[in-house]
Amino acid sequence: MLELLSGLINNLFFVMIPILLYYLFKANRYETLFEQNKVLITVLLSISIILCMLFPFATDAEGEFIIDLRQIPIIIGALYGGYGVGGALLAVFAAMRLSIGGEGVYTSMVNVVMLVAFLPLLRARFFQWSHTKRIIVVSLIAFFSVVANVFGGTLLFGDPIIELAEPYITAALAQFIGTAVVALLIEQMIKNQKMQRSVIQNKKLEVVSHLAASIAHEIRNPLQSIKGFTQLLQQERPTPAKQQEYLSIVEEEIKAAERILNNYLMYAKPGTTTTTPIYLEDVVDHVVQLLEPYAKQHHTQISFSPTHKAQQIEADPHHLSQCLINIGKNGIEAIEGSGTLTLSTEPNGHYARLRIQDDGIGMTKEEVAHLGEPYFTLKKNGTGLGLMAVFTLLQNMKGRVTIHSEKGSGTEFIIDLPLAKRPSASE
Ligand code: ADP
Ligand code: MG
Repeated sequence: MLELLSGLINNLFFVMIPILLYYLFKANRYETLFEQNKVLITVLLSISIILCMLFPFATDAEGEFIIDLRQIPIIIGALYGGYGVGGALLAVFAAMRLSIGGEGVYTSMVNVVMLVAFLPLLRARFFQWSHTKRIIVVSLIAFFSVVANVFGGTLLFGDPIIELAEPYITAALAQFIGTAVVALLIEQMIKNQKMQRSVIQNKKLEVVSHLAASIAHEIRNPLQSIKGFTQLLQQERPTPAKQQEYLSIVEEEIKAAERILNNYLMYAKPGTTTTTPIYLEDVVDHVVQLLEPYAKQHHTQISFSPTHKAQQIEADPHHLSQCLINIGKNGIEAIEGSGTLTLSTEPNGHYARLRIQDDGIGMTKEEVAHLGEPYFTLKKNGTGLGLMAVFTLLQNMKGRVTIHSEKGSGTEFIIDLPLAKRPSASE
């Protein structure tokens, strides 16, 4: 009995390990567990299957019927990951099981093939259920899978049910509990990721509304001069040459207004989360234009002289602009009286480097250490979410951030973004 129990605890450990590893190293990412990491998840679950089968917690006297918790990763993989993950896990399982051999092969093969064939069909409905309902349903599936295995095996292949009654009952219960624990971890991760995403979305809305005010203000200027020149055209009856001149000024002003709006809309519209090869300088340029009205309102200069476009980086243009806007906006807000926000790019090995520097109030070491923590803010109306979003998004793009700051003299954000491996011609 003790042996059974310790073997069982081992097995439980094996099935929890991939999810725990994932949780430790990847869960703070913006990605969804099974959608963007199918390969990684499949590898981790395969390791569980192999470990469970190498160290089963019970076998019959001849070692032909092996009882372990390998079904947990298979059920989890097929249900959460679909046919691709399920199929791969089936292959791993089949290779392992066939190499072990014995009478039990038939029953367990039929059992696992059925799981992998039918569980993915449930997914559409499954993902509409609440977290709790999903946990209960997967656990029950895991429990009844063992029951079906035992009775199916006895009826179809005459497996020795009585001899193995105790380990099978234990297996059914252990599988129920083990699956519940694994599903609970997964559901918790899904919940966290959803929350993180909505926090980032909220932050974006807040920044959008801040910028909107200064942008609306900025658009008034071209509109006013358009109005002025159209009035001139109507009232003054100018010569054709003058008419032409006025009209081309009007056209320029319309273009200016259009540019401001386009920049804003590009940022405000919900973005997709795909990285592509882009020029860092283009994104910075766009962000600078977008921040210009905000800077003007705060009596701040923005200085960015784009050097020649170096190599392309691999990044999500929307998310990158979102990061740069948050950092730039902080820099502008940190400047008291008047000052300058300086941006510059330079190559740095396999990365392209961007420096964003302000001569604002700066921060102490302790303050810098807190940056990126949700709700850490030193501003009266701050939310303390901007830099959290920055760190999350940059991490997703495999970027790196370093911050140098000195109280009273200013702050510098240094951002490294990985160069694109396959540059594209697109700008
Ligand atoms: P918020 O801007 O809403 O306060 P952030 O996450 O953007 O939230 O910034 C957190 C805090 O970090 C700010 O309140 C500010 O105290 C500090 N901070 C960020 N960037 C700078 C900077 N460039 N200079 C000085 N302080 C900064
Ligand atoms: Mg901020």
